[in-house]
Amino acid sequence: MSSTRVTGGPASGRFTIVGTPIGNLSDLSPRGQAALMDADVIYCEDTRVTGKLCAHFGIKTPCRAYHEHNAEALRPRILEALAQGQAVTLVSDAGMPLISDPGYKLVQAVIGTGIEPQVVPGPTAATTALVLAGLPSDRFFFAGFLPPKSGARRKALGELAQIPASLIFYEGPSRLAAMLNDAAEALGDRSAAVSRELTKLYEETRRGRLSELAEHYQTQGAPKGEIVVVVGPPAPAEAPSEGDLDAMLEDAMRENSLKDAVAYVTNISGTKKKLVYERALKLKEQSQ
Ligand code: SAM
Repeated sequence: MSSTRVTGGPASGRFTIVGTPIGNLSDLSPRGQAALMDADVIYCEDTRVTGKLCAHFGIKTPCRAYHEHNAEALRPRILEALAQGQAVTLVSDAGMPLISDPGYKLVQAVIGTGIEPQVVPGPTAATTALVLAGLPSDRFFFAGFLPPKSGARRKALGELAQIPASLIFYEGPSRLAAMLNDAAEALGDRSAAVSRELTKLYEETRRGRLSELAEHYQTQGAPKGEIVVVVGPPAPAEAPSEGDLDAMLEDAMRENSLKDAVAYVTNISGTKKKLVYERALKLKEQSQ
């Protein structure tokens, strides 16, 4: 697929990705309703789930299943429908399609035909939990579902440990306590939040250290419902003491010019350049 492809080629169909509610039906936007209503066909994960959503809004568009087991076979048929000018809408059971849900290969294939996909954004559990967590939200990493087995889970968590951002995980109730324990071990005992049943009647967010949350769910048993875990970023590395800084500078200045030594120590220590420069000048004066 060429990334420079000009959109709107010979195919004239319309392909729209629609975000649907994650629990509260009122969260389907008017634009989302229109995209479902105006489509010739809705592709969804489970026709019963999307059928209920459509029935609630009086939408009569036919729903067909598109999931990991039939996706390969269905894609050419969906592209054919678009080539014939049909309006195709893609949804998942809940939330944004493609976010831990099927769809990305279909979107890729649609782009390949020259049709530019349209999106009607809707709720997603990941960012809904992030904004409730009370944790830094300027940078976040969506890690989706972790592997179910502890060994693989710890390895996956270890790979995320250095990311300087809040981490967002999807998790099932039965694995929650074990996951929180593994996270405390692999990431350090960071601040975290467990959100369940977001936008639903029994919505709840519990905040605390990973170890506290793990203990809570171990003692209380697995909670009911759907769950998102948000973990805060790693603590910034501790600033080196003046003595450490001097030792680094003395080493670096033995073999380098003052300017190069300052640049090097600034880089490895994460200390402000002005401060490193002042220390370097002091050391130079003392040695004369
Ligand atoms: N596409 C969806 C989205 O945009 O959030 C996610 C689909 S993924 C298959 C399902 C997982 O999302 C659940 O296991 C849970 O971790 C999370 N999830 C979905 N709805 C949720 C809700 N209302 N409250 C908490 N977590 C939810």
